[in-house]
Amino acid sequence: MKAYDSLSVSTVLPAELASLRTLAKNLRWSWHPSAERLFAGIDEQLWRSCGRNPVVMLRSLSATRVAELAADDDFLARLAEETQDLSAYLESERWFRKHTRDTEDAATSVAYFSMEFGITESLPVYSGGLGVLAGDHLKSASDLGAPIIGIGLLYTYGYFSQTLSREGWQQEAYTEHPPTDLAVDPVLDADGVQLHVSLGFPDGRALDIAVWEAQVGSIPLLLLDTNLPTNPEDFRAITDRLYGGDAEHRIRQELVLGVGGVRAVQAYTKLRGRAQPTVFHLNEGHAGFSGIERIGQLMESGENFETALATVRSSTVFTTHTPVPAGIDRFDSHVVQRYLGSSGGHTLVPAVPSPRIMELGAEDDPGLFNMAHLGLRLAQYANGVAKLHGVVSRGMFAKLYPGVEAEEVPIGSVTNGVHIPSWTRPSMMPVIEAMNGGRDLATSNTWDHPDAVGAEELWRIRGELRAELVKRARDSVRASWKARGAQDAELGWIRDVLDPERLTIGFARRVSTYKRLTLMLQDRERLARILNNAERPVQFVIAGKAHPADMGGKQLLQQLVNFADEAGVRDRIVFLPDYNVTIAKHLVAGSDVWLNNPVRPQEASGTSGMKAVMNGCLTFSISDGWWDEMADDSVGWTIPDMHGVDERTRDALEAGALYDILEHEIAPLFYERDERGLPTEWVEKVRRSIAVVGPKVAAERMVRDYVNDLYLPAGRSARVASEVAATRAFAAWLGDVRAAWPSVRVESVVAENPEPKTGEGLRLSARLALGQLTSDDVLVEAVVGAPDEDGELLGARIAEMRPVADGSSDFVVEVPIDAPGRLGFTVRVQPQHAFLQAPAELGLVRLPS
Ligand SMILES: *Cc1c(COP(=O)(O)O)cnc(C)c1O
Repeated sequence: MKAYDSLSVSTVLPAELASLRTLAKNLRWSWHPSAERLFAGIDEQLWRSCGRNPVVMLRSLSATRVAELAADDDFLARLAEETQDLSAYLESERWFRKHTRDTEDAATSVAYFSMEFGITESLPVYSGGLGVLAGDHLKSASDLGAPIIGIGLLYTYGYFSQTLSREGWQQEAYTEHPPTDLAVDPVLDADGVQLHVSLGFPDGRALDIAVWEAQVGSIPLLLLDTNLPTNPEDFRAITDRLYGGDAEHRIRQELVLGVGGVRAVQAYTKLRGRAQPTVFHLNEGHAGFSGIERIGQLMESGENFETALATVRSSTVFTTHTPVPAGIDRFDSHVVQRYLGSSGGHTLVPAVPSPRIMELGAEDDPGLFNMAHLGLRLAQYANGVAKLHGVVSRGMFAKLYPGVEAEEVPIGSVTNGVHIPSWTRPSMMPVIEAMNGGRDLATSNTWDHPDAVGAEELWRIRGELRAELVKRARDSVRASWKARGAQDAELGWIRDVLDPERLTIGFARRVSTYKRLTLMLQDRERLARILNNAERPVQFVIAGKAHPADMGGKQLLQQLVNFADEAGVRDRIVFLPDYNVTIAKHLVAGSDVWLNNPVRPQEASGTSGMKAVMNGCLTFSISDGWWDEMADDSVGWTIPDMHGVDERTRDALEAGALYDILEHEIAPLFYERDERGLPTEWVEKVRRSIAVVGPKVAAERMVRDYVNDLYLPAGRSARVASEVAATRAFAAWLGDVRAAWPSVRVESVVAENPEPKTGEGLRLSARLALGQLTSDDVLVEAVVGAPDEDGELLGARIAEMRPVADGSSDFVVEVPIDAPGRLGFTVRVQPQHAFLQAPAELGLVRLPS
């Protein structure tokens, strides 16, 4: 029978299991393996089928399973332990507190804006490296107790999932992710209503934005959502998907993130009684409009543009992430004009004159508005993401700083890192901990005990990780071929795909031209020979998504997939579809060597190779990004870059070097075994790579660098600027008050209850004329006492009067009366400002005449 209608039934958790929801709603489980195991152990199959998403899994449990769990003492004990562990973690005193104790720095608080955050597969608001970096930033900030609030967008469809067609062509699919399926909660106000902020669009319509909150350990991540019934269709679509759509769509997303993000974080902190952010970190140029909004707010409170800009600059940190000019976000100037210009009457941020906005994003081409230039002009603190990237960025943006040498361009660098507990497989964690002598991994700069774990033990763990990858890769390849239309009977060969004992090279990243996925295909016969070498065989595991609009990228992918099929090497070169953080975890850990061959110096940093290091996988890379500053033969292999020749020659030469090193250095070292069957020198190299490189590529080190080199200095300069600006604003206010004072009058004073009794209050109301001033600018007081024969009030009681509504010039108060007799009253008005010690300082008083 066909259903007439349908609805969904969800599981109610009994009180014994209620804390499962607490655990599910704090994303710390994603870097705390025992909590993840607790969820996975509830129902392994369900855990996988709902995308390792505890929120969906808990809702989908059968009543029988729930009853079993509620009666399972072992399970309840583990649940209690995990819940206790989470609250102990959240309450513990961590690095930042100790680091800033008894200093003004302790009050620094950072708003961190990013277009994407890669925290777990089950919160699909990321596409690649930039997002994973932002996710690792928040996780490490949590472990260090750094006071950061993340701000991003909640995408209805996230990024696409990838499959392949029979011909090896990338196919994209988008799945809707309703907020109820995600580990997010609405930010609620005191009345239990979700926090919304709004943007007035130039066409007169108001965009409604709902604010959600995810918990990343102790770090709140605010996610903005426009997919609301209150919005028209085109507004609902603004936060539909990541990096989809045209420039118009993109600028709307960036206005929501920047302008909406500032309003959201301010409203959020106010609601929660937390300190307002003092430092604004723009992770890439996408959130540049946040600076325009902040300038606008200062100008509305009376600052001039220059002072407002200086104040914003003093407290802004901008991180640039691409050394490729084509990778920089630029808009047609007229599109920016349409949203922020003054032509249409309405503008998004009306207080800031549009010519000044256009100047902030100006570049050589007057038709373009450059978001990186905007970021640099808005930030006194700017950095690239590796040393070499710092050098390249200083050259690239030198024009913005005329008259100084490239080295003097004020763009520094903080080398990226990866969050240790997220990226180190649980079986490798004890190795790292031992190498660090059991100290706190989040705060140590060196791991001084490289020999703490024996060679056999290390090699055993490495073998297990490789075997696990091989198993997962076979499952993935089988699923992929079935999706490509193959029948089970054709797929017997998959049992023998990859070999858990073979030297395994990993390569996974976004398919962008400069990353050169297919460099390894330069000489196909030579590659096939290396793969098929009888004594020293090699296998490749590859993954990566091409942007849906990048036809060139999809062709590269197809070439690679087809090569594996055609060259008779489909058992030793496999492509795993739908690269995401879960696949990345297994790939970086199970490979022996992580290959990275971008065109130098186009890889700003790269982070997948850092994840590999944490797991004892060795680096094989062009001297670019992070590897450029760490390259050392004792911990990896460097492919020499061949600059100064044409592209074809460069690719051919670099591929030649890749084959040579792989065939003559890497493979022999891997297959050279001692009498115990151990590749002793290989294991030595693994050991050195972890101990020497590991602590340098930790995101925990990166966040400490951001705190010390950027956030605390920005917090200090923001304090100075805000004091200077506040003094300037006070002086301007004084001028306004003196000018307006002659028109300030008390028009009427009325006793609302003309025959009061003792024990009752005297209710007074006064109507004022304030001229150019507002009710915030004045202190209005009722003065009540017994009048003597001259009408002087004796023993007067003074009570502050309040405006009947915001902005009103009608004021009221109720003054208690304790003795019978005659009562006299009047009303007094004086200027009021936080910078005045006493309102009488100015000698301006107004009484009824
Ligand atoms: C780490 C990671 C990346 C970034 O890798 P790069 O080496 O920086 O290109 C991209 N996607 C996913 C899923 C990752 O985990």
